[in-house]
Amino acid sequence: MSHPTPNLAAIEQAFGVLQDPETGRSLSKTDQVRNISWTEDTLTAEISLGTHSLPIADEFQQRAVETIRTRFPNFKNVEISIATLDRPPPTIGQIGLRARSVIAVGSGKGGVGKSTIAASIALTLRRFGCRVGLMDADIYGPSIPHLLNLDGRPEVIDGKIQPRMFGEMPVMSMGFLVEKDQAVIFRGPMLHGSITQFLRDTNWGPLDYLIIDMPPGTGDIALTLSQLLPLTGAVVVCTPQEVALLDAVKAIAMFQKTKIPILGVVENMSGFICPDNGKRYDIFGHGGARRKAEEMSVPFLGEVPINIAMRQESDEGRLDQVLQDPVCGTPIEKIVRTLVRDIAQRTTATPASVSLPVLG
Ligand code: ADP
Repeated sequence: MSHPTPNLAAIEQAFGVLQDPETGRSLSKTDQVRNISWTEDTLTAEISLGTHSLPIADEFQQRAVETIRTRFPNFKNVEISIATLDRPPPTIGQIGLRARSVIAVGSGKGGVGKSTIAASIALTLRRFGCRVGLMDADIYGPSIPHLLNLDGRPEVIDGKIQPRMFGEMPVMSMGFLVEKDQAVIFRGPMLHGSITQFLRDTNWGPLDYLIIDMPPGTGDIALTLSQLLPLTGAVVVCTPQEVALLDAVKAIAMFQKTKIPILGVVENMSGFICPDNGKRYDIFGHGGARRKAEEMSVPFLGEVPINIAMRQESDEGRLDQVLQDPVCGTPIEKIVRTLVRDIAQRTTATPASVSLPVLG
């Protein structure tokens, strides 16, 4: 069988089959493949990816290698390196937010670990090298400052609220604005106003992901958000008990009613792995969320076991440290990769067109 003769145009065309996971555009159109060189049996090239795609950079690289190998079997070695592309995110909605993806993390009821999962997703995306902001919209029970051991009041500079920074991650929460232990009483318009302000008046800077920790249950904030900006979608956190699953079903229905796509379900407190003997005990049952997700045709993103360290450390404000332990960190990492992969699949299914100037 004759194999295609490698020449630059043919190699570039082969790379062009791949779509940039962030924009969905063909790599041949985006100048993201560079430094292509080859000998008889070795091809090397460099692909640059935006920081949005970093959690799936290794699998994308693997796909690129396979694509070239299949097309040019004579190359015994295909060496593709990944470089980081500094690509500014688009401005979305009418509020001037610069973000590529906005993800709401919700639940049907409180106490299922929604805030813990929202913050863990944000921290893990950040660790992969993405630009991430974390917004605590759970204004009735803001727990993000506590999880990250952040306090102090945000300054206002030139009319913009300066978020508190966790390392390089901007964080905004009602917890920074009210005294601890002070009840926050919000009614419709104020609720709408404070969420709008958090989004519009906070100096978020350019973001790949804005993760929003939603209040449990109610649809008000989901509705406000969906009016302010196009949300990429919602992640629903639940526990495996049958009653909790019913609440999760309601939460899914609530997001769907406000036309917010469901990115998937996370089963938290799914089994307990005993630190003494490594055995798994399914205290609340196991696998219910996966089945429910399948029944409702929404993606299942993964499960996070009950972990004593996670509870103890995050209650002490050390969630970030606890995620560095693979027992807690690996399940979240898997969820983050699945999430980013699913978002990329949605994007590549409907690639962004290049915006052309409108001729008047
Ligand atoms: P929600 O936002 O749903 O009200 P939180 O994130 O505040 O829930 O979590 C409730 C409690 O459960 C916290 O004490 C938290 O540390 C604990 N928790 C959450 N997820 C886990 C887990 N996987 N293992 C152990 N404890 C957890």
